Amino acid sequence: MKGKVIVAGGGIIGLFSAYYLHQSGYQVTVVDKRDLSDSCSYGNAGLIVPSHVIPLASPGMVSAAVRYLLKPNAPVGVKMPPSMDFLQWSWRFLLTANKHSVRESSVVLNELTTFSQSLYQQLFDEKAFPFQMNEKGVLMICQTRRALKEETEVAEVANGLGVVANKLSGEELRSMEPSLSVNIPGGIYYPGDGNIVPGELMKSLIACLEQAGVTFLRNASITSIGSDHAAVINGEKHAFDALVISAGIWSNELLELIGSKVPLQPGRGYSFDFPHDAEVGHPALLVDSRISVTPFQGNITRFGGVMELGYWNHRVVKRRFSEMVRSIQRCYPSLPPIAPETIDVWSGHRPCSFDGLPYIGRIPGNECVFLATGHSMLGITLAPATGKLISELVDGQQLSLNLYPFRVGR
Ligand SMILES: Cc1cc2nc3c(=O)[nH]c(=O)nc-3n(C[C@H](O)[C@H](O)[C@H](O)COP(=O)(O)OP(=O)(O)OC[C@H]3O[C@@H](n4cnc5c(N)ncnc54)[C@H](O)[C@@H]3O)c2cc1C
Repeated sequence: MKGKVIVAGGGIIGLFSAYYLHQSGYQVTVVDKRDLSDSCSYGNAGLIVPSHVIPLASPGMVSAAVRYLLKPNAPVGVKMPPSMDFLQWSWRFLLTANKHSVRESSVVLNELTTFSQSLYQQLFDEKAFPFQMNEKGVLMICQTRRALKEETEVAEVANGLGVVANKLSGEELRSMEPSLSVNIPGGIYYPGDGNIVPGELMKSLIACLEQAGVTFLRNASITSIGSDHAAVINGEKHAFDALVISAGIWSNELLELIGSKVPLQPGRGYSFDFPHDAEVGHPALLVDSRISVTPFQGNITRFGGVMELGYWNHRVVKRRFSEMVRSIQRCYPSLPPIAPETIDVWSGHRPCSFDGLPYIGRIPGNECVFLATGHSMLGITLAPATGKLISELVDGQQLSLNLYPFRVGR
């Protein structure tokens, strides 16, 4: 064994970090404040999307936020009144949401998502642990001509980076997905995208790690991280050679223990699983209403959506959710009616960095403490790459990718 590593936070990012650290020969302990049965990593849409080369901090997102600001049922919302932390985050978000930064971030995101997808493929081929991987691609479904124009531009950027993107007319879309409304003017097909089933992947990864000898401390509280390479967990001192903070939107709670902090805000989203007999064959994103559609086995489709920035609790805003349901029914008219008040809605928090790139790196001034968070809308897509890079960094190996764009303290 090479040494002891504590991974603080057992969402998808912490689990993949634990996986690759264990593979590298470290003695790993995953510590989680809760019981590991729910987090943002469970209720998400499960899409693996190398096609998503445009970061959250983009001119498109700024104009959407402005457009939606006064609409209480819009798919994007901002917490009012904003906290000081949120204002500081927003200021940096606005400074970054320009064409030049987006161009630079697209290249970097493309490298990271492509690397991550290759790791998923490798894990799947090697049967490292059981999980389903669907490789049907993802349809970007545009409900308006304006969205189609914008998505066509995004597809051109993606094409330029080597991502295959096929523009489809409404008819071509419906020949792939017959359940779609005849009013849809068209969309883009990304055949290289795919999906996993999030809850299944999480449980399988935890079981695989436990079987391999990784220790799990559930419902555990870290109250101190000392410069003596020891953390106090549930009142007991635990020595470590490295500590990885991967606690999603709560990562700053742990960073504060070592006098550090990063710009990070929650992007609350909703999802629900809907069993039905209608045909929904392809994973998709409804572009105008920002809704994800992921068909799972057994005729269950998971619908996800809404980006509520700055909201820390799990409340579901009824008007926003009802509008989400209306948009789904407009796009898929053959689905049975969905009564919003009867639905068990899940909500979770995307850990959003200010520039749409994750934080992956050493914490300045703390040689043995590392951060892996801020994956926003792409945590599932990017988790294997992040875990692998963290393990390479901790182990002092040659890095698979340049981590400068993801450095902590930028
Ligand atoms: C509706 C929705 C749809 C999404 N769809 C997709 C998608 O299709 N594709 C994609 O790539 N991404 C998607 N995402 C984003 C993705 O789910 C997140 O980026 C990802 O789950 C974040 O993982 P994480 O491990 O960083 O955080 P989390 O999953 O939130 O895990 C953090 C863990 O840290 C623990 N913790 C908290 N505080 C402490 C502490 N003090 N000490 C120890 N542990 C602590 C928590 O209990 C939790 O277990 C979606 C998100 C939402 C909300």
